[in-house]
Amino acid sequence: MTGAPVGSGLKVRSVVVLLVAVCLSMIAIVIWEAWSSRQYHLHDKEVAMSNLAQTLSSQAQATIKQADTLLFTLVERLENDGFEPAQLPHLERLLRAQRNELSQLHGLFVYDQTGRWVANSNGAAVPDANNDDREYFIFHRDHPDRGPHIGPSIKSRSSGEWIMTVSRRINHADGSFAGVALATIYLNHFLSLYDSIDMGRNGVINLIADNATIVVRRPFNETEIGTSVAGGPLFTQLLPTGSSGTATVKSVMDGVERVVGFRRVDGYPLIIFAALDKHEVLKGWRDQSLLSAGIVALLLGFLGVLGYRLIGLMKQQNRIQRELLDARDELIEVNHSLKLLALEDALTGLSNRRQFDLFIHSEMGRARRSQSGLALLMLDVDHFKLFNDQYGHVAGDECLRKISAIITENIKRPGDLAARYGGEEFAVVLPGTDYVGAFLVAEKIRRAVQQAGIHHAEGADGVVTVSLGVAAYDPASQAQADDLIGAADKALYVAKASGRNMSVIAN
Ligand code: GH3
Ligand code: MG
Ligand code: MG
Repeated sequence: MTGAPVGSGLKVRSVVVLLVAVCLSMIAIVIWEAWSSRQYHLHDKEVAMSNLAQTLSSQAQATIKQADTLLFTLVERLENDGFEPAQLPHLERLLRAQRNELSQLHGLFVYDQTGRWVANSNGAAVPDANNDDREYFIFHRDHPDRGPHIGPSIKSRSSGEWIMTVSRRINHADGSFAGVALATIYLNHFLSLYDSIDMGRNGVINLIADNATIVVRRPFNETEIGTSVAGGPLFTQLLPTGSSGTATVKSVMDGVERVVGFRRVDGYPLIIFAALDKHEVLKGWRDQSLLSAGIVALLLGFLGVLGYRLIGLMKQQNRIQRELLDARDELIEVNHSLKLLALEDALTGLSNRRQFDLFIHSEMGRARRSQSGLALLMLDVDHFKLFNDQYGHVAGDECLRKISAIITENIKRPGDLAARYGGEEFAVVLPGTDYVGAFLVAEKIRRAVQQAGIHHAEGADGVVTVSLGVAAYDPASQAQADDLIGAADKALYVAKASGRNMSVIAN
């Protein structure tokens, strides 16, 4: 029988399942955390871009409105007073004064219907200069609109600086084209503001005209001014859905994916577009996620090592437990056989019945082989039942121990064996002894018991006595051990029947 502990394999499996479940949960939590934190980061920046677009569109609107208001009154005045040469010095003084009032203003200009410079705020007239090739001039000449027009950004002919143009048409009294009033605004006015905003390394702020051409762009690059972004996501995806909003889109200008906010400028055909590089936006998030992933990986590693050790220990413990149970089973078996092998009677310390059986058989064999004598005494306590009844079993056992001691004292040869045959019957094997010798030993024992004077009110003479049957083996006969025992037993019966407290030899 093997003692494998029931469910030990199950326990190890449960621990493995538990560990795997804990590890998977930790990984799931980290991934979930990272995902939601990423969404939060992106959303946060979208809100920031939306707010920025709102602020910058207000700024653009205010800047242009100021210039446009001047144009409006200028046109009003020219249409009433005409282009009289006498008026011109006064007009130029006025333009200069007005320009000085507004820092964003590069200049104020008036052109007649042929594109000739009539008046400007920037001092000396440029003789023979003609602006009939400029976009705004052509636009007003060909369009009867009275509203403001914002043209593509240009490099000033008068100062060489980058400027934005805001213009209005001047009419004759009959409504025909009389010229153009133009206000020019430094692009730097926008750029210095845009540059002061922290947009990271790849952030972008664009002021874009309705026709998809770039008016101002941060970071500033001359070659990009006036280019069209009509094919980009702003015009293809975002503006069709509304006049303001946020999104994450890929730029057609540089291929960078950006978190953007956009908004139309109130009252002017312009759009503000503010965008942060998504890669930069997520840098903080990435670092943080990598750090927590690293920490969790460390924890998982630690947990793994711990689990590995734990499982090892459990396996070892299970093995030891199994070994212990096996050892226990073995011990039980050994104990069982030892019990069988035990040869001593527990109460008296004499040999037990088993030892007696082994001994008498082997001695019979030896006697037969060596043709030597062998005698057997069978001893039974007289009226022992009455003794027990009167003095109790404990006293009875004590009495048996005393009789055992007396038997041992009276057999002196090392080869002799005294045994408890059963109950209050004893047997004494006397190798190399004949009837006569055996009878002498029997009598010695009987007398010694009587003389020990163990009180027994119901016994003969008031003391415990014993009866003995004596038998001896005749080497000439074919007798077996059982025959010898039977003969001694019979003799004992005769002793009992004959009045007890005597030794009788088997005939
Ligand atoms: P007899 O003289 O005919 O032998 O009478 P008896 O009473 O001794 O009769 P018998 O031998 O049949 O009685 C055996 C009694 O011995 C029965 C039991 O009470 C007692 N006895 C047997 N073994 C033990 C024992 O181990 N301890 C004790 N105290 N008593 C025992
Ligand atoms: Mg008896
Ligand atoms: Mg008896």
